[in-house]
Amino acid sequence: MTDVTRDMYDQYQMPNYSPAKIIPVRGEGSRVWDQDDRCYIDFAGGIAVTALGHAHPEVVSTLKRQADSLWHLSNVFTNEPALELARKLCEATFAERVFFANSGGEANEAAFKLARRYAFDHYGEDKHEIISFNDSFHGRTLFTVSVGGQPKYTYGFGPLPSGITHLPFNDVNALENAVTDKTCTIVVEPIQGEGGVRSCSTTFLKTARELCDAHNALLVFDEVQCGMGRTGSLYAYEQFGVTPDILTTAKALGCGFPIGAMLARADVAASLVVGTHGSTYGGNPLACAVASKVLDLINTPEVLNGVATRRQRIEDGLNEINSHYPMFNEVRGRGLLIGWVLEETFKGRSRDVLNAALDEGLFILVAGPDVVRIAPSLIVPDADIDEALVRLDRAVKKVFETS
Ligand SMILES: *Cc1c(COP(=O)(O)O)cnc(C)c1O
Repeated sequence: MTDVTRDMYDQYQMPNYSPAKIIPVRGEGSRVWDQDDRCYIDFAGGIAVTALGHAHPEVVSTLKRQADSLWHLSNVFTNEPALELARKLCEATFAERVFFANSGGEANEAAFKLARRYAFDHYGEDKHEIISFNDSFHGRTLFTVSVGGQPKYTYGFGPLPSGITHLPFNDVNALENAVTDKTCTIVVEPIQGEGGVRSCSTTFLKTARELCDAHNALLVFDEVQCGMGRTGSLYAYEQFGVTPDILTTAKALGCGFPIGAMLARADVAASLVVGTHGSTYGGNPLACAVASKVLDLINTPEVLNGVATRRQRIEDGLNEINSHYPMFNEVRGRGLLIGWVLEETFKGRSRDVLNAALDEGLFILVAGPDVVRIAPSLIVPDADIDEALVRLDRAVKKVFETS
């Protein structure tokens, strides 16, 4: 037994989170157990992170092997896992160079700094303006919340970095009117995760690409949430047929072990000369060994092709639930990044659905007050999907009947 309780959160940790009442202690595949040994099905994946579920045997053994041999060096030395992972990421994508960080926010911080530095090196300091979109999310550092399009995350933290413009999402005209020769980068999530599980239109991304080319600006795709197999291709850009100049990846890259990476073409990466940027832990052998194994496991036809069939099974189940308790008007997003959108009269109640699901033994997510978000493991078994849908049906029924 343990004397560790949820109350200790309020006593010892800062109040910036509001964790659930239960404390998970153990996980295996798509199942998690709490302190009382109650079993939950995990359709949240730690916010689209544990793409291979919990305690994947090959990932665990890779971590243990690396822990026994070498944890940390600093970037005074390179290390074998980092070299291997960088090669794999370059071979699997458009990229020719990789920078390692420890999180999505840090990967984006590096990307925005590189975009500015590249423009500075080639075109001078006036070319520094960043274009981004409403409701976007790029992390919690001051630069990344400033580029992000959710004012609640910058409120009270000013003065903020300047030279950043936010445009309506998916608005081709607004984008065409906003880009100038002073624009150094357009930053976009091909599928907004936190902002409501909303996909860019192909036309929008193609326009962004053309405008960047016409104005010597760099196109940055933040694939921290939608990358690493989540949509059924290794990275979402492949599905849109639009290639960025810089791509950021994290979350599922380490499947729960902290790591992020910024990928770029060699001519772009060339601006990050010795001394311009760095990280104590970025590229450490432990994180890179884990991510290297995760990449090997995810970047296979079986796992990537399995995303569409699992999506279909879940989407059919959601539509079935909605036929009994009509609360939703759309299932959106791609692959296993699923947004279930509440219809007008149920708007604002996504958190009620999340709480009811937790009571029924199911972890799900929200993406704002009006969207239920589902991001299970990419290898979640059919039996767990079916049981999750039974539990979700009971949860939705409860919310439906208490309105
Ligand atoms: C989660 C997320 C981030 C931030 O990643 P952290 O690891 O929390 O810093 C950035 N961009 C997107 C699209 C995300 O979903």
